[in-house]
Amino acid sequence: MQISLEFFPPKTESAQASLADTARTLARLHPQYVSVTYGAGGSTREGTLSTVTQMQGIFQKVAPHVSCIGASTEEMTSLLTDYQSKGISRLVALRGDLPSGYGQGGAFAHAEDLVCFIRQSFGQAFEIEVAAYPEIHPQAKTAQDDLRHFVNKVKAGANGAITQYFFNSDAYFRFVDEAYQQGIDIPITPGIMPITNYSQLARFSDACGADIPRWIRQRLAGFGDDVASIRAFGQEVITDLVDQLVTAGVPGLHFYTMNRAEPTLAIVDALGLKGQPG
Ligand code: FAD
Repeated sequence: MQISLEFFPPKTESAQASLADTARTLARLHPQYVSVTYGAGGSTREGTLSTVTQMQGIFQKVAPHVSCIGASTEEMTSLLTDYQSKGISRLVALRGDLPSGYGQGGAFAHAEDLVCFIRQSFGQAFEIEVAAYPEIHPQAKTAQDDLRHFVNKVKAGANGAITQYFFNSDAYFRFVDEAYQQGIDIPITPGIMPITNYSQLARFSDACGADIPRWIRQRLAGFGDDVASIRAFGQEVITDLVDQLVTAGVPGLHFYTMNRAEPTLAIVDALGLKGQPG
């Protein structure tokens, strides 16, 4: 099974040290690559760069996320040239979300523009992953519009897609079928979010449009502050979801690790999955 792992740039030195421990523990999964998120508006440019360098000391392939909203073509060229010189050959190309208070601005309105720009300016120097939304991007006018934009973004030159996390596998299967009917054939890898903290998950899900089914919400809410029960139930739910996805033959699994090793390891180990480096 192709496994990829996502990390975010830590804010403090001690969190940076503990991320190194997490990463070394997760290295036994032999991920195809690991990715490092990027703050839109360039807010974690340095953090992303230093975390990418740190991860290159532990993993063979590291894919920085690059978000284009608010960036000029000169800034983007400088960032990508820097990555190229550091031996990076894979990117996760995103529009990103500007923090409130920022104007629109910048040379790129959508991720599709960034994918076009990378192909025009850097040819095939990078493998490009883009984002996909089985439960529909929250700003999309309609589901059909969103699918059309996704297909165009892929046709602009993406090699693969990673989905927003979801708890309902039907949404993923339908999305993949519909995308393939539109003539694309890249791997669409499900993004997997382990459940460890209800209030944080509810906040993220409200912001990104991921649906937490009522039966999951109610049970998690009912555990109150009982963290052990939340984690045990969350692990069961996500292990079942991953089992369904693997049985259906998904092209890989992308884990949103939240910079922690145990929740991802618990799921992978429960199913006896073996990573396969790319
Ligand atoms: P787009 O593909 O540009 O889509 C954004 C919206 O615009 C959608 O509603 C789409 O339907 C619409 N749209 C697209 N093209 C057009 C067009 N041509 N005309 C009109 N409308 C259009 N955010 C970060 O800030 N940093 C990260 O590191 C990060 N990593 C992520 C990783 C993954 C796997 C995922 C799924 C999301 C990630 N995000 C990250 C969040 C992402 O930036 C947001 O969801 C953002 O709102 C959309 O980014 P996108 O690349 O999907 O945008």
